[in-house]
Amino acid sequence: MKNDILFARCIDMTVEAYGVCKVDGLVIFTKGMIIDEEGYIKIIAHKKNLAYAIIDRLTKVSPFRTKEACPIAYKCGGCDLRHIAYEYQLLLKQKWLKETLANIGGIDYDIPPVVPSPLQDRYRNKVQVPIRDHKVGFYRVNSHDIVEYTDCLIQSEKANAIIGFIKRKIIKDGTDRYFRHILIKEGFTSGEIMIGLILNVEDFSGLDTLVSDIVKEFPEVMSLIVNVNTRDDNVILGDKEIVMYGSSYIIDELDGLKFKISLKSFYQTNPLQTVNLYKEVVKVSEVSKNTKILDLYSGIGTIALFLARYAKEVIGVEVVAAAHANALDNAQLNKIDNVKFYHDDASRSMVTYLKDVDVVVVDPPRKGLNQALIKDIAQSGVEKVVYVSCNPSTLARDLDRFKNLGYTLESLRGFDMFPHTTHVETVVSLKRAVLSRSADSSLT
Ligand code: SAH
Repeated sequence: MKNDILFARCIDMTVEAYGVCKVDGLVIFTKGMIIDEEGYIKIIAHKKNLAYAIIDRLTKVSPFRTKEACPIAYKCGGCDLRHIAYEYQLLLKQKWLKETLANIGGIDYDIPPVVPSPLQDRYRNKVQVPIRDHKVGFYRVNSHDIVEYTDCLIQSEKANAIIGFIKRKIIKDGTDRYFRHILIKEGFTSGEIMIGLILNVEDFSGLDTLVSDIVKEFPEVMSLIVNVNTRDDNVILGDKEIVMYGSSYIIDELDGLKFKISLKSFYQTNPLQTVNLYKEVVKVSEVSKNTKILDLYSGIGTIALFLARYAKEVIGVEVVAAAHANALDNAQLNKIDNVKFYHDDASRSMVTYLKDVDVVVVDPPRKGLNQALIKDIAQSGVEKVVYVSCNPSTLARDLDRFKNLGYTLESLRGFDMFPHTTHVETVVSLKRAVLSRSADSSLT
């Protein structure tokens, strides 16, 4: 069966962007095939009733197929939708969102069109590249081989240039063996740049020269930090940080608010679209000067500070110490005093923070919310929950749990934060239903 060439038609696409074909009862997932395309496909792996294939030759080509402009497309594993016209990428994300919500959460909702990203290329403000075997680049799909590149179209030209510059220096003098990663953050509004050099040693001869060469070449660098990680794991950053040049942070601006960002703090990576996303959060929160809001997973306080401009009071909770410290500074930087930020873990009881709260905003990592937190939120009787999700599967699971505890879906909208990838971000608002006695008792 392996290496067989079959004629097939693509009838669907999975959320991982595989084309789905069916031949004599065999389901074949074909890399890169678009719905309605037909042609010859080559089987590369085969198990019982399913197989994986690659395109051999198309006889009918989708009108939405484009010529991918990226030289490393499908090698680096970053942009699985590079061969698909942007309008069709958005339609696919809308369809995937609808299917995931229905299949996992049993949710039937008429999903509005996904909000397009203002930039489709060069939209990212952060890049991190591994260094291994004298190569600097991205990991090849499902492997630890490095795919080298000179230009990555979703990164800024400046970030690509900085990586190229550092790469040439460290490969030339052989110091690349001390490096694990290079990380770059860029304030799109401010133009400020942070460079993180993640090393497996604290120091090496030539480090000072490298640092001064970098800051001479790139005057936009406001912060250059060495981070030491000697652990043998997949976590990028270690505990030890040494500021080699400038500050320990950069500042960026979103919608007139200033934000301090440290090396270890999360900051949304598509800043232009982030403003659209946060405006949706403000809109669906229906915030007024009487509203008290709890922002869980608050990061450097971005959503909390967006909301605080219209609310009575906002409380933010964040587990990463550096991000929490940034949030405290960001409140001061913007002279906003109706916010409080706590350094705490949202997987522990949030009951005390939930007291007298009108709206809870949650923006968790991909794994979504703990069931216990959902119960605490429901039991506190909060009227409205606004859920910002980067993973439709865990969102679907959590929405089902909220539904069982008496919350109904009020609005749901997808935002394309990551053009050319299969990812989609979602903002959902839930409203507490007027509960019958029996439903009420199910909460206790
Ligand atoms: N709302 C912010 C951050 C969202 S990313 C923004 O838009 O920028 C998710 C954040 O949750 C990260 O800052 C991460 O550090 C934090 N986080 C992860 N697990 C957490 C937990 N158990 N408790 C509190 N915060 C957590």
